[in-house]
Amino acid sequence: MTPALGARVLVVGAGIVGRSIAYYLSRAGARTLLIEAREGPSDASRASLGVLTHFSGGQSVYGLFIRDSHAVHGPLADELFEETGIDVGWRSLGGLDLVIDREDEALVEAQWDQGRVRGVPVERLSGADVRRIEPSLANEVRWGLYFPEDQRVSPMKLGQALLEGALAHGAQIEYGERLLCIAESGEGGVVVETSKGRRSADYVVLASGAWTAPLAASVDAQVPVRPVRGEHGCFGGAELRHVLRHGGHQIIPSARGIMVGATAEEAGFSTEITQAGQRALRAVHTRLLATPGPLRSQWAGLRAKPKAGRPMIGPLNEHPRVFIATGHYKNGVLMGPLTGQVITRWILEGQPGRDMQPFVPER
Ligand SMILES: Cc1cc2nc3c(=O)[nH]c(=O)nc-3n(C[C@H](O)[C@H](O)[C@H](O)COP(=O)(O)OP(=O)(O)OC[C@H]3O[C@@H](n4cnc5c(N)ncnc54)[C@H](O)[C@@H]3O)c2cc1C
Repeated sequence: MTPALGARVLVVGAGIVGRSIAYYLSRAGARTLLIEAREGPSDASRASLGVLTHFSGGQSVYGLFIRDSHAVHGPLADELFEETGIDVGWRSLGGLDLVIDREDEALVEAQWDQGRVRGVPVERLSGADVRRIEPSLANEVRWGLYFPEDQRVSPMKLGQALLEGALAHGAQIEYGERLLCIAESGEGGVVVETSKGRRSADYVVLASGAWTAPLAASVDAQVPVRPVRGEHGCFGGAELRHVLRHGGHQIIPSARGIMVGATAEEAGFSTEITQAGQRALRAVHTRLLATPGPLRSQWAGLRAKPKAGRPMIGPLNEHPRVFIATGHYKNGVLMGPLTGQVITRWILEGQPGRDMQPFVPER
């Protein structure tokens, strides 16, 4: 296929991934239309903690995608501030993996060994040292690992800035417009049916999160991605400085308070917050902090969980003008911007600029 500078691209879904794609496409000169079934930001954007977990080493294609995703955020935060005046809240906080009991000890020891073998910046801290840099920790915390490269961004601010940046570069957005199916796709372009009628474009990108499988199925493509609900709680109380991790949960400082997340629940497409979720989040908060504060708010969103653990990024086999960008599961904020860069290059220059074989959408 020939490169397509100035192409008309329809991006479906205005979550972090769709907004990242629209931002980079419009900046590169593509005529970009974003359609979004809802009237505002997605539940996943609202529920997300925005932690940009440090690169944990390894030279696999996926490992390097995470490393490069991580490196995009600091410069992107500066660019977006210059272009839109929005501070996306990018901060280099550093992270602590904490040990309370024996079970934690085995896991954290393994992380220490792996980090050192792979050359990941990490320090081992005694209980006293951990509490010195993070005074609000509970006395039960025995020791921990310090990862200086953990960062955080505000997902809502990042989404807002990416969208404003895209609009400033000429992109358009239609809220309340739902893609129903892909009606035709061929050499000449793609025709889709939406809740507002028919649209045509040179390329279509399905950045429709957990809802992507049935849309791809409209052209007989199997893109096995499903929803997994996640909840977080926002608590008042002690001031925090770092990202804290324990037992698969994270606690982070944010402008809204101390955010504790996240649950992982098989609940179909339900985005209700639950009592069980609240109990689980409270338990984490109470266990890790010396003086836990009150719950202020609770949020839930759907993560797009892909078959085989890697995001789905690239064109469909039989429909090279239909791209998929979903399945980022627990790291969509981290990987969204690099996904946007890769899709932009793939559409406009005819190749992605890096090995994307592990991310083929049809599995
Ligand atoms: C509790 C929680 C904590 C998290 N913490 C982190 C974290 O710390 N770090 C991190 O990197 N990630 C985190 N994540 C994951 C991250 O939030 C997601 O991976 C990311 O937001 C997914 O973005 P997306 O654009 O792929 O999907 P979504 O945000 O779900 O966007 C998809 C959009 O497509 C729209 N859509 C669907 N179907 C159609 C259609 N037919 N027509 C038009 N529009 C359609 C939907 O309405 C939706 O707005 C967390 C998620 C949760 C739930």
